[in-house]
Amino acid sequence: MISPSLENKKAELSHCGPGERTFLGAEAQHEISQRLSGFPLAQQLSHEVYDFYGNHLLFTESRNFTSTIFTLRLGHDPIALKSAEIQLQLGTERVAEALAHELLHLRLFNLGFPLGEFVQVPFQFVHYARDFIGMCHWVLNVVQHEMNYQSFIALGFDKSHFLVRSNEVIDYRKQLRPEFQNGFPAQVDFPRWCIEYLRHFFAARHGGDGDSLDQAQDALAYGSRLYPQLRLVTGEIRKGFEIAVFKEPSQYPSQVNFLLELMGIPKFTGWALLEPSAPRMPVAVRLDVESAKRGFWQKSFALSRNSDDHPGSWEMPFLDTQA
Ligand SMILES: [Zn+2]
Repeated sequence: MISPSLENKKAELSHCGPGERTFLGAEAQHEISQRLSGFPLAQQLSHEVYDFYGNHLLFTESRNFTSTIFTLRLGHDPIALKSAEIQLQLGTERVAEALAHELLHLRLFNLGFPLGEFVQVPFQFVHYARDFIGMCHWVLNVVQHEMNYQSFIALGFDKSHFLVRSNEVIDYRKQLRPEFQNGFPAQVDFPRWCIEYLRHFFAARHGGDGDSLDQAQDALAYGSRLYPQLRLVTGEIRKGFEIAVFKEPSQYPSQVNFLLELMGIPKFTGWALLEPSAPRMPVAVRLDVESAKRGFWQKSFALSRNSDDHPGSWEMPFLDTQA
């Protein structure tokens, strides 16, 4: 039974296309739990996530989706949690795994880890804001994967199903040609190369195989011809991950920003926390209101979405994804 106001919310938030089914709150938890049949610990996780988000939890499934993602939507003025959504792609080999993966992302906010809400991009690079914001999302996503990978295995899943696997092999030698820089200045192109290397490195680290490591080595070998500092920077980043950071919510913003700074990506200047107020009624609060103000030489962008499928998009609020 859904109240009329919740019906409105459902209609407003879901993108109901053909073959899509959307559920809210307890109903969403029930459906999610059914998809996790055979994995009692993951079912328990779905209860935990529902107990935190309550009727903010929205679950949509369809065979027509091309990926499985989560989206955390925030209102920025005033700050408010709008919804915590999971969109599940059906008909794949890893339906339960993909669902558990997204639940683990959502649980991090329940555990007190903040969300990056604002990014400030220097004016001379405002033209590339979309690219930089996509990179910020990517870094947050990979950090969260590092935080969740062991938990995923502890739920009883095979480690190789943590991420979507791609068989695509990229010829990085070709990417040294000038046209592949697409006119990007070095300040934008360098972090792109960092991410090219790191995405393969972390694919291997998070349940992948030797092919990913080969691709990582290729990206590093060719990228460092253009940017000799690439080896040093990516080495520092790997060191950061090796010393088991990202355990403590209060240190999380500075640790994420440290990684962004190493790569030359604009840092997060505003963070939001989700806090329980009444049962199943979390509220969003800012960690530092001052930091959200615009500087005279920077433009501030509020994040709507954190997606690794559409790393360029920023118009929406905050979401993450899968791979
Ligand atoms: Zn993910």
